[in-house]
Amino acid sequence: MTAERLNLYDLTREQLRVQLVRWDFSPVHAALLWNYLYLGLAETFSEVAMPELPPKVRARLIAEAGIGGLPTALATESSDGFTRKYLLGLADGERIETVLMRFKGRVTACVSSQVGCAMGCVFCATGQMGYTRHLTPGEIVAQAVHVARSLRQPGPPAKSNLLGYSPLGARLRNIVLMGMGEPLHNYEAVMHALDILRDETGLAIGAERITVSTVGVVPGILRLAAERRPESLAVSLHAATQAERAALVPAARKWPLDELMAACRTYSETTGRRIFYEWTLIEGKNDSAEHARSVGVLLKGLPAQVNLIPLNPTAGFAGAPTRSEAAKRFQKILAEEFKLPSTVRQRRGIDIAAGCGQLAVAEAG
Ligand code: SAH
Ligand code: SF4
Repeated sequence: MTAERLNLYDLTREQLRVQLVRWDFSPVHAALLWNYLYLGLAETFSEVAMPELPPKVRARLIAEAGIGGLPTALATESSDGFTRKYLLGLADGERIETVLMRFKGRVTACVSSQVGCAMGCVFCATGQMGYTRHLTPGEIVAQAVHVARSLRQPGPPAKSNLLGYSPLGARLRNIVLMGMGEPLHNYEAVMHALDILRDETGLAIGAERITVSTVGVVPGILRLAAERRPESLAVSLHAATQAERAALVPAARKWPLDELMAACRTYSETTGRRIFYEWTLIEGKNDSAEHARSVGVLLKGLPAQVNLIPLNPTAGFAGAPTRSEAAKRFQKILAEEFKLPSTVRQRRGIDIAAGCGQLAVAEAG
């Protein structure tokens, strides 16, 4: 789709109504179009995809608008069938990753917010590729639609369904902004996209089922609080001292740990919500008992849950993933000494390089 063409995925329901009224069409047709886009998941303006659209509306849409679906450049499925990863093509030839993850009782889409990332975290494949550009709201919405659509085309029944994992064909209910990019570096577009994805008459993703993950962009966290955004927040911590954190997360030099924790406190006080703190476990680097205690001390008194993520190895970083005993010890210390709940993220799709940014790197290489 060319840049001048209106991408309907960029518009909230109200903006779509205003646009159609501006074209002298009825709001009823705007509502119909919205339903075709987000309930029908239509890919074109054709009569098959949108049978009840009046011809004059269809003609105008064909002339001036587009449905900004993203073509699949590459799709891979993990050997266990629970994780599907898409490399999607953008109109300017760039590529981004979107991941579909099936868990017990839920399906989650992991979506990207930028092409590349400017934050440069040393262990992250996206950070290693650098920053190219922000995604538009429509490009973020399109990723969720892509996953929702793929759930509608069930493949052969997976034997895993017997274990209670959400079958293909289930509805998309959860979204995490943990793909490529730093969502709070692209604040406006991300929030606009979330408003569209949350619309109760559309994809209707519940705010509590959407998680925005940030490297710790302090002004962005304060803005989320000031605007009382209802989505969940995850903050990537990885280290509990400024020196250790700055070595892994260069953005920590701009937004030091004490400022970050003050912003997190403000966020929780303002919204009344806990924050998920992410900690990528790297063997011998941040997975010792002392490190676990440093997290406990840092988060004392804050409403928090810790998400431990064993490192996904990447070409540009020499670290190794933590051993499972170290992860268990970490968790045990948080629970027993600090009453801090935590989860160890299941290692998903390791065999298809489903870590952040890894498929794009493999493809480019
Ligand atoms: N930019 C945001 C969201 C995208 S990254 C952020 O940094 O929070 C989502 C999560 O994946 C972050 O917690 C990030 O630290 C983690 N991550 C990135 N690369 C990883 C890797 N190679 N192994 C394990 N976790 C990784
Ligand atoms: Fe960017 Fe997040 Fe990767 Fe850091 S971990 S480089 S912030 S995508």
